[in-house]
Amino acid sequence: MTYRGRFAPSPSGPLHFGSLVSALASWLDARAHRGAWLVRIEDIDGPRTVPGAAEDILATLERFGMHADEPPVWQSQRTARYQQALDQLQSARLVYPCGCTRKEIADSLLHAHARNTTLAYPGTCRAGLHGKPARAWRLRVPDGDAAVITFDDRWQGRQTQNLATEVGDFVLRRADDQWAYQLAVVVDDADADITHIVRGADLMDSTARQIYLQHCLGVATPRYLHVPVVTNEHGEKLSKQNGATALDSDKPLEALFAAARHLGLELGSETATSLEQFYGSATAAWAKRMKVRA
Ligand code: GLU
Repeated sequence: MTYRGRFAPSPSGPLHFGSLVSALASWLDARAHRGAWLVRIEDIDGPRTVPGAAEDILATLERFGMHADEPPVWQSQRTARYQQALDQLQSARLVYPCGCTRKEIADSLLHAHARNTTLAYPGTCRAGLHGKPARAWRLRVPDGDAAVITFDDRWQGRQTQNLATEVGDFVLRRADDQWAYQLAVVVDDADADITHIVRGADLMDSTARQIYLQHCLGVATPRYLHVPVVTNEHGEKLSKQNGATALDSDKPLEALFAAARHLGLELGSETATSLEQFYGSATAAWAKRMKVRA
């Protein structure tokens, strides 16, 4: 196997400490495996994309010494591939159009909640649109045992999710005409032959959906590793939305040591004077912690 990893930032603002931790973890894992490390700009979510943020993130990664092995991939240029994947699923009758509004779904979930049953999408449009206009496209999830997806996360251990009871049929093409993250990420990782995904634990909840989608599309499932997310003083995930500050590009080593500490890496001393020196000891510490034998 030729290791291929990636970092896939959403350009909704400059790189902040939380995303640096994900970038560093994926970079160190690729280095520890002597593999390739790629960058993908997830600019598929039009409304959330901030002009200039992608270029800013790419420049910061360069200044921090994380150099991608191939030119970055931009999701906004790959919409034809997402359409092909949806067509493939449509031919296999695995997707269906959904006419439910958010309010209708919320109301039916409230109902379900009151009955103490599932909070998953109740499958209202599975049997047809009942005269409503199509808004989104959903992937039909299986029932029974086939709905249970299990995977072994390299950091968090065994994970199990029941797609039928915990998620329900999920959206691949949104009502606002945007491609859903779940579809884009699976198609992109497969097309780039990604073998290992290293990212923040906030995405753990999406992984079972992505594995099921891989099965439906007939593509390979990579190994997963979800690193603990960085939280603010209120215990919320650090994000551009809750005001995480951009990294100080003049002091990459300071931020990198803090990110390594967050990952629990034992670097001995914090006296590296160059990025190469830092990455040398951080890669060794990562390889030891994650039991990577290159
Ligand atoms: N673009 C996603 C984010 O910034 C990451 C997607 C992924 O790594 O799968 O949260």
